[in-house]
Parts: sequence; C-alpha cells; structure tokens
Amino acid sequence: MVSRTIPVDPFDLVIFGGTGDLARRKILPGLFRRFCAGQMPANARIIGAARSELDSDGYREMIREAIAEFGGAQAQDNPDLEPFLEQLEYVAIDAKGTGGWEELAKIMEGTDRIEAYYFSVGPSLFGDLAERLQKYGMADKRARIVVEKPFGRDLETARALNATLAEYFNEDQIYRIDHYLGKETVQNLMAVRFGNMLFEPLWNSQYVDHIQITVAETVGVGGRGEYYDKSGAMRDMVQNHLMQLLCLIAMEPPAQFAPDAVRDEKLKVIRALDPVPPHHVVRGQYEAEPGNEEENPSYRDAVNDPRSRTESFIALRAQVSNWRWAGTPFYLRTGKRMVARSSEITVVFKDTPHSIFGDEAGRHRNVLSIRLQPNEGITLGVTIKEPGPGGMRLIDVPLDMSFAEALNPDDIEHVDAYERLIMDVIRGNQTLFMRGDEVEAAWAWTDPIIEGWQSRNDVPKPYDHGSAGPTASAEMLRREGREWRHVTP
Ligand code: NAP
Repeated sequence: MVSRTIPVDPFDLVIFGGTGDLARRKILPGLFRRFCAGQMPANARIIGAARSELDSDGYREMIREAIAEFGGAQAQDNPDLEPFLEQLEYVAIDAKGTGGWEELAKIMEGTDRIEAYYFSVGPSLFGDLAERLQKYGMADKRARIVVEKPFGRDLETARALNATLAEYFNEDQIYRIDHYLGKETVQNLMAVRFGNMLFEPLWNSQYVDHIQITVAETVGVGGRGEYYDKSGAMRDMVQNHLMQLLCLIAMEPPAQFAPDAVRDEKLKVIRALDPVPPHHVVRGQYEAEPGNEEENPSYRDAVNDPRSRTESFIALRAQVSNWRWAGTPFYLRTGKRMVARSSEITVVFKDTPHSIFGDEAGRHRNVLSIRLQPNEGITLGVTIKEPGPGGMRLIDVPLDMSFAEALNPDDIEHVDAYERLIMDVIRGNQTLFMRGDEVEAAWAWTDPIIEGWQSRNDVPKPYDHGSAGPTASAEMLRREGREWRHVTP
C-alpha cells in the first residue's frame, strides 16, 4: 500500500482515564495504528493518567495486553509494538485531589510541542480536570482538551459544562468528540453531496420523499445498565449521533470544508427543527429472549428495575422547517437488541411524476443508502427493465459504491473513527467536532420531548428481542403511507 499519511507535528497527549475501557479498547489501539502508519512522530509522548497506582512499565504492560486484545490482526507480532510502548508514560493522578498534578506539570513543562488532554473519564470529572489543568499551569494557549460524551444530560447541564470549560479554555481549544463524525462513510457523505453535480440539485423536498436514519444494535445494555437507565436512547444516541447525521444530510453547502463554515450550517439545521408532538415519537423497551432469559434478560431485568421507564428504543419523526426541507420528514430510529447491527441513512426519492409504462410495469423509487456499519458503502437503487422477453417490467438494481469493491483493497488505509479524530485534534482541525452552541441547540430540541414523557408518565412499549422495535414504530410510518427499511446486517 502506498501510504498517503502525512506525519503530524510532535505532540504530548495526556489521556485522563488512561486505564479505562475506552482508552484500552479504542484510543490506544488507534494510536498504535497511527504509529504503524508512520503518522506519529518518534518523539511524541502519550501519558496515561488515572488513580490506579501503576508505574510507566506497569502501564506499558497494561497497554500491551489491550493492543493484543483489541488491536486486530495488525497488532499481533508487530515489530512496531515495542517502540510504540516506549513512547508511553504513566502518572497516578486524582482528578478531584492534588496527588500527581505536580508530577504531570513537570512532565509537560518546558516543551514547545502540541499539548492535548483527553478527558476519557466520567463527565462529573470534566470540570475538576479543567480547573486543575489551569491551576498547575497546563491550560496555556497550546493546550487542547478532548471531551467525551455525554456532554450534559439536558440544556441546563450542557450550558453549565460549557460555562465551566470556558472559564479555562477558549472554544477553539475544546474538542467535543462524537465518534460518528470520524467514520469514513460520514465523511464520504459530504464528498458525495458536495463533490458531485448529480445529487445536490435533487437534494430537497421537491425530489426527496423522506429520509430515514437507523442505528440498530443487537447488544443489550450489558454492564452499563445503571448508567444507561439514567440516560436512555434519546440522550445516549439521538441527541448526539443521530442528530449529527441528520445535520450532515440536511445542511446547506458550507462555503468551505472548514470548522466554523461546517458547524454554522449544522447549527442552522438544528435550529430549524420543529418541536416533536407526542404522536411522532415511539419509545420501547426490549423483552427477554424467549428460552434464554438468563443470558438475554429483558431491559427491566437488565437494569434491575421492574418499573423503569427508560427507553432502549426510540423512533421519531423530525421536520426541518426551512426552504429546502419543508414537507420532507426525517425518520430517526435507534435501539438495542434489534434484529441486526446496522447503521444506515436512506434517502428515498419521490415517484416519477408519470409512469409511461403503465401500472403493470410497476412503479419504483430511487433510494440512496449510505451504510455506516457494517460493510460501509453507498448504494443507489436504479430502476431498469427486467431482462428477458416478459415485456416492459421494471425492477430495481443497486448501483453499488461499496468502497471495498470499487477500490483496490490494498490502497485503502483503514482508519478507525477515534484515531482519525485524535489526529485531527493534533492537527488543530475542529471540523468534525461539535461546537458548544451546537450541543446546546441539540439539547434545546430534545429537552421538551423528554419533559413531555415525564409529565405524561409515558411508558415505553415492549418489543421482542431481535425485532425491529415496537409495532407502533412501523405504524407511525404506515399512517403516512411509508415503511421503514428492513434492518439487515
Ligand atoms: P471507565 O472504564 O469507567 O474508565 C474511567 C477511567 O477514569 C478509568 O481509567 C479510571 O481509572 C479513571 N478515573 C475514575 N475516577 C478518577 C479520578 N477521580 N481521577 C482520575 N481518574 C479517574 O469508563 P470508559 O468507558 O473508559 O469511559 C470514559 C468516558 O468515555 C466516559 O465519559 C464515557 O461516557 C465515555 N465514552 C465511553 C465509551 C466506551 O466505549 N467505553 C464510548 C463513548 C463514550 P482509575 O479507577 O484508575 O482512577
């Protein structure tokens, strides 16, 4: 493979929560891949920081194991592993106390490299970390902070968090991560929309009947039950990931592919969203797998609360009220324990105005599917004549833009969302990160929906393990003469 990777400038990256699940599963294996690709300079330093009493050698061992477990095939017997581990250090630190902070300040002292601080800890510690970074002299203009989700649990808490971070850092130093924006296909969505003449003229309510965004998971809440039950699908998935996808689909073409140009357009979309009436939302909770209740219990058993009213599934109809999209609904749906793991955006175009082939030929619609996972790729359904002697019958065939098939696999450099986004942090590129006002606007739209459930004592509807969600979700579209796309792996 000819690598098109451009090395980034020397940097020091401190990972608060460096011993945690996210750091071990995603961040460090991702950094290792960047190291192997030659993107990480040899003098870059990665400093893990958490309360566990480890020394740097102990931390290297922990990360060696993490890379073996989560690093994929490339990580096994890789001669780059030892030199990568050499670049790791560890400081035992308490985000809420004083221990370890002077040591960290000493490590970071006196270099003129890029400094990045990844807050891979629970959100209750974000303010403590920001405050101590300043107190110990590390919040200078070179510093960037990376903030994980969840960013608040409503408008009020998101505002408070923005205000706390703004006490110590400027907006251009704050990288609010939404890993969906780092996915290859999400960026490809922008390339397809704004790099081709073909789609943009049709990208409006005159030609688009509706848009569907589905993020389906087969897993349940697993060990995250306690956290998840306080959050639910709306807060955990819709307010961030699904809304970000909606923005990229619906936004006007930005003047440049540059941070504020893109984020200004996304913000306009969120602000154009109509309030959602109760009959345009369906919430659900998954049932146990019949015969396997022990291993795959119901949502309520998994969170250990028989009266829980938190949704593990949500489907809703959103409306972007602007010139381009008035009259074109956006159907959003996400859930756990669904029939297949699949993330897909589907743009369903309108019928042709008149069928010259008559009713027997059948009527078909063009459908553009953008698949985020698995099998990333873009497919356009095109209507053609059914081959053979049967007269003029129409069928749909997919015009497939599967990356794996269209491009020589040896030429594709697979980059995980996290590693791409971390490299963007080092490069100082905020395009794929959420701005503070965007996050607040997203909460301002979701809050009244959640408050409505609370005031009405809304109870989520049960749905079968391994299904497409409650039947009411299908009914919501059927009422409008539409149907969800099948959730397929
Ligand atoms: P986790 O496994 O619970 O790890 C938390 C980390 O924080 C550990 O390294 C822990 O280490 C450290 N920590 C806890 N209290 C601390 C303190 N007072 N001072 C310093 N360090 C402290 O959590 P996680 O799953 O990695 O998640 C981290 C963040 O990423 C959370 O905000 C989460 O919402 C977000 N996130 C995670 C995922 C994921 O896939 N895991 C996905 C999206 C977002 P010690 O106990 O050694 O201190």
